[in-house]
Amino acid sequence: MTQATGAEIRPSIGAGRLAHRLSRARHLASDAGLDALLVGVGADLLYLAGYGALPMERLTMLVVPAVGRPSLVVPRLEAMAARVTAVAEAGTVAVVPWDETDDPFAIVRVAVERDARAAGRDLSGVLAVSDRLWATFLLRLQVELRGARFELLSAVLRAERVVKDPDEVELLRAAARAADRVIETVAHGRLIGRTELDVSREIRDRLLAEGHEVASFAIVGSGPNSASPHHHPTDRVIRAGEPIVLDIGGTISGYGSDITRTVWVNGGDPAKGPDHDFLTLYGVLRAAQAEATHAVRPGVPAERVDAVAREIIGAAGFADRFIHRTGHGIGLEEHEDPYIVAGNDEPLRAGMAFSVEPGIYIEGRYGARIEDILVCGEAGPMVLNAVTRDLLVVHG
Ligand code: ZN
Ligand code: ZN
Ligand code: ZN
Repeated sequence: MTQATGAEIRPSIGAGRLAHRLSRARHLASDAGLDALLVGVGADLLYLAGYGALPMERLTMLVVPAVGRPSLVVPRLEAMAARVTAVAEAGTVAVVPWDETDDPFAIVRVAVERDARAAGRDLSGVLAVSDRLWATFLLRLQVELRGARFELLSAVLRAERVVKDPDEVELLRAAARAADRVIETVAHGRLIGRTELDVSREIRDRLLAEGHEVASFAIVGSGPNSASPHHHPTDRVIRAGEPIVLDIGGTISGYGSDITRTVWVNGGDPAKGPDHDFLTLYGVLRAAQAEATHAVRPGVPAERVDAVAREIIGAAGFADRFIHRTGHGIGLEEHEDPYIVAGNDEPLRAGMAFSVEPGIYIEGRYGARIEDILVCGEAGPMVLNAVTRDLLVVHG
């Protein structure tokens, strides 16, 4: 499960696992009466082929026909990168480069039709495209594959991607542990007198130093800014006697980390808090996050986990201060199914990975949030983050 990328060794999903996913996808396409799956750059391409290309104006597309070998259609200048992917090296996927003067959409059409024709199989004229394929590509495909009907790939792949296999859980765990170390270091480092932006930059650097290939976000909300859940760090200077919400994450081999901890900086002076109101608020939040976590097990509707957190926070009089859903799925995307929100009655299944992240926000004053990533296990929750959820009162 390791693959050399340049000088670094990163864990990754192996060729055997990817081949299995591709053959599952082919069977699902066939069962659904689709001619092919057309997968553009993004999480679905990473999931099926382990290939993480940059989205750009030149078409990159994995074609998974219901019959025959998948093709990875790539611009010539990216063929080298495509050929060293595990699936290309194993021969599971054929790399089909196109030159600057070629029409890549015609090449995709040939890849869709070739093997079906060779097998004497009728084409249904129905195709699935990845949900986030750019309109600029889809419109060209519609011209090239005139008369075809296009459906969303998520209808085929959602049930596969929503349940994480053991390799995926290991990557999520590695990402969570790396983010844990960053939180520990930053929370116990110097904070007072620094700007939110400065601390945010340090977090991004540390996420990369701890093995993330991308530092996706580093929210630092100090003082009144802690009451804004998706606060963008500013040049506000952190002072003794206030909370800071740290919500950070990135990816390791495509899989995301996402952890929130709230710290209170008092400069070592107990007179600088935390004050009684904040301790009360935090105690309620701590209980809500713990009980919502404990509610996780197979068969429990996703919305029940949200309700558990909301009932505890509501009973303490903070109902209108908890202004977002309790959590979101995580994997190759920062936010994906399942969403832990009222109205989602989908039963949790073993292997689903998601956040449990209630928050309480008093606008104009302060707020707090506690977030862990967990995996629904057969017998209950497996929490991937290990940093204490007790309020971190630090000298700063
Ligand atoms: Zn968020
Ligand atoms: Zn977060
Ligand atoms: Zn989150």
